[in-house]
Amino acid sequence: ATPTALMVGIGRGARLGILVKGHTALEASGSIDTVLLDKTGTVTTGSLQVAQSWLPKTHCGELFERVAALEMRSEHPVARGILDFVRSHTEAGEQSAGTATEISEVEVLPGVGIEGVVGGKPMAVISASAAAERIDLGLEIDSWVRVQAEAQRTVVIVIDDGVPVGALALSDDIRPDATASVEQLRTLGLHTVLLTGDASSPAGVIAERIGTDNVIAEVLPNDKAAVVTSLQEAGHRVAMVGDGINDASALAAADLGIAVVTGSDIAMKSADIIIVRGDLGAIAESIMLSRKTLGTIR
Ligand code: ADP
Ligand code: MG
Repeated sequence: ATPTALMVGIGRGARLGILVKGHTALEASGSIDTVLLDKTGTVTTGSLQVAQSWLPKTHCGELFERVAALEMRSEHPVARGILDFVRSHTEAGEQSAGTATEISEVEVLPGVGIEGVVGGKPMAVISASAAAERIDLGLEIDSWVRVQAEAQRTVVIVIDDGVPVGALALSDDIRPDATASVEQLRTLGLHTVLLTGDASSPAGVIAERIGTDNVIAEVLPNDKAAVVTSLQEAGHRVAMVGDGINDASALAAADLGIAVVTGSDIAMKSADIIIVRGDLGAIAESIMLSRKTLGTIR
C-alpha cells in the first residue's frame, strides 16, 4: 500500500477507537489467519466475584484477615475478587482487612497464585491444579473443585501451613459481545483459539459458549509466547489479543499484537494495535481495516 493509504488507514482506525502504532502493524494484519484470544479480561469482563466458597465453620475471621494480607500484594483480577469477598465478610473495617497482619517473603507466582509467610505461618492462595500438584486436597475439596470448575468457575485453594483449609470459586462474566465477535472473525475466514492459564474445564465451557474453533488451557504466562511461536512455525500468521501483564510476551511474539484498553501499560507497549473502546467487535474491524488499506478487498 502507498504511504498515503496507510496514513488514511491509521486515521480511520483512530476514529473507530482502534489505535494502530505503525504501518507495519497495519500491513501485518492483512495476512493473519489465526487469532488467539486471552480469556480473563479479554473474552470475559475480568471483574471476578466469589460465587461459592468452601470454608471452615469457625474462625473464618482470622483466615480472611490472612488471605487478605496476602492478596493485597497481588494485582491479578482473581486477587481483587477475593479482596472484595473478604471485605464484605469482615465486621470491623472493610477496607482495613489484611492490613493488621505481619507478612513477609511474598512471592507472586504468575499463572499460579501467590504465597508468603503470613502471621508467622506459610500460606499460599493458588489455582486448584497447582494446589493438587503440591498436596493431597482430600476427597471433599476435590469433588467440590470439580463441580465448581464444571460451572465454569475459577477455583483457588487456600493452603495454610501445608494444609488445604479453604477453597473459593470465582465467576467472571463473558462479555456480552464475545460470541458475535468470534463469529465475525470466522466470517473473515480466521481460525480462532481461546488461550488461558485457567483450568481446562472452565476454559472449555467458555470456548464452547463463544464458539472458538479451539481452546488451549493451563498455559503458564511465559508459555503463551511459545504457543504463538509454534503456530508460526507451523506456517500460520498469528494475531494475539490480550489485556494483561501475562500476555505481554505473547503480544510481542505475535505477527499482530492487539491489546484491549483495560490492559496494563506493559501489554500496551508490546501491542501493535490498541483497542480503546469497550467492545470486541473492534478486533474484526481492525483486521478488515488493514485488508482494506492494503487493497486486498475493496
Ligand atoms: P488468564 O490466562 O486467564 O488471564 P492467569 O494465567 O493469569 O489466567 O492465571 C491462571 C490462574 O492462576 C488463575 O485462574 C487462578 O486460578 C490463579 N491465580 C493467579 N493469580 C492469583 C492470585 N493472586 N490468587 C490466587 N490465584 C491466582
Ligand atoms: Mg489475562
